[in-house]
Amino acid sequence: RGILVWFRRDLRAFDHAALHHALLAGAASARNGDSPVFCVFIFDRPILDGLPRDDRRVAFIHASLAELATELEALGGHLLVRHGDARTEIPALADALDVTAVYANEDYDPAAIARDGGVADALAAAGRSLRLFKDGVIFAKSEVLSQAGKPLGVFTPYRNAWRKRLEAQPDALAPWPVDPHAAAFAPGRSQLLSLQDIGFDDTGLADIGVTPGMSGGAALFDAFLPRLAGYGTERDYPARDGTSHLSLHLRFGTVSIRHLVRTVLQLSARGQAGEGGATWLSELVWRDFYQMILFHNPHVVHASFKPAYDRVAWETGPAADELFAAWCEGRTGYPLVDAAMAQLNTTGFMHNRLRMVTASFLCKDLGIDWRRGEAYFALRLNDYELASNNGGWQWAASSGCDAQPFFRIFNPVTQSERFDKDGDFIRFHLPPLRELSSKAIHAPWLHGGVDGYPAPIVDHAEARQRTLERFEVVKARG
Ligand code: FAD
Repeated sequence: RGILVWFRRDLRAFDHAALHHALLAGAASARNGDSPVFCVFIFDRPILDGLPRDDRRVAFIHASLAELATELEALGGHLLVRHGDARTEIPALADALDVTAVYANEDYDPAAIARDGGVADALAAAGRSLRLFKDGVIFAKSEVLSQAGKPLGVFTPYRNAWRKRLEAQPDALAPWPVDPHAAAFAPGRSQLLSLQDIGFDDTGLADIGVTPGMSGGAALFDAFLPRLAGYGTERDYPARDGTSHLSLHLRFGTVSIRHLVRTVLQLSARGQAGEGGATWLSELVWRDFYQMILFHNPHVVHASFKPAYDRVAWETGPAADELFAAWCEGRTGYPLVDAAMAQLNTTGFMHNRLRMVTASFLCKDLGIDWRRGEAYFALRLNDYELASNNGGWQWAASSGCDAQPFFRIFNPVTQSERFDKDGDFIRFHLPPLRELSSKAIHAPWLHGGVDGYPAPIVDHAEARQRTLERFEVVKARG
């Protein structure tokens, strides 16, 4: 009897923990002429039904599945695709195929953990099991702890402990090969669904330069490697092509995190990764860190990581709603903030520096609850990922895992002067400002303003003062 591999956020046919273990377990049957490993992806309706029809992430998954199916067929297997509630679809399919177990890779999102628990229970009721494997991170859950054996809540000690753990356990980077046991794949024809079948539209990913699937991820990584050494200095400038753009591929597992980390470490060992290699690796460790934070602190989904910050009283009511709408639509009058929101609204991507600037602006200039911004990013970001998005927002709001105190407040004008010095990024995204000089573009209101572009909706100095007062409550004891 067989095994069903359930693909979720791991849409690749190489270096795949669940697939490797399923094929290994099926290898003995394969030698006896039986080929027992099936593969499935479920378009999970509880997640999809709330999304707009033109959601790019769904289009990305859809296109990535076509490539995955082709690749699985080349290896001798096939891919089944279903549309429904995974909690019922998986047990039903396990029943129809009469497999003994379902194998999948771990997902640390609390909603996914609850879903997997439901699926495991339903499978168990029919005498089957759900086996989960670590795949999408290097270290998960409690693998990296403080010296006292506790989960860490600050990044730098986490990164140090992460590196120590990797030194002690280098096989954490070893790939989970698929090809050697491919004979265990159940042959057959893939059953795919069209976007229309699942109620979504084609969104023209090519128009925004996104190539889905394993081939898209590999091409991006190849293109990034020559830029890796310069990453440390280039990554902060949104007008330059300084970062990898791999977040979307990491989100859906069309690249392997082990492959990325291994490659960077190998280049570093050969002296070919420069300072940029260490900085980029550190960003990948941030990703592990936030997954770990979410796993150990599921309350962060709704509340502050540091509970004292739940005392902060955010602005509410019609005036706050109007400010929030201006932020979402990129009409705050602060060019860097507006250009960043335009980038998000038109492409579904936003540069990391600008995620920090816009998030800080919402919480600390407009006094609006980080959860509202987080939800907007969740809707718009192609690479939306609960752990990193929540972590990034709570960092910006000072309620999260940040060693810095709350009175670090970004100034949207000086950030603009520093990181978009010549105004190239702003000019690209805000046509009304195209004619402005590099001096005037960061704060047009100081240079007579521009027709068709709003005046600032808040005064930064006043807003900063209000924020310092608003955050005073976190100092209160009890
Ligand atoms: P690179 O600079 O090339 O970095 C490589 C990879 O490292 C990224 O692809 C990502 O997987 C990881 N990484 C980089 N920075 C971070 C970070 N600060 N935290 C966690 N992982 C990181 N990242 C997401 O993947 N999804 C999100 O929903 C998300 N929301 C964010 C919200 C806010 C408010 C902030 C401040 C940051 C958020 N980030 C998020 C982190 C970061 O902005 C993006 O990962 C990065 O901009 C993606 O671009 P890149 O792939 O070119 O990154």
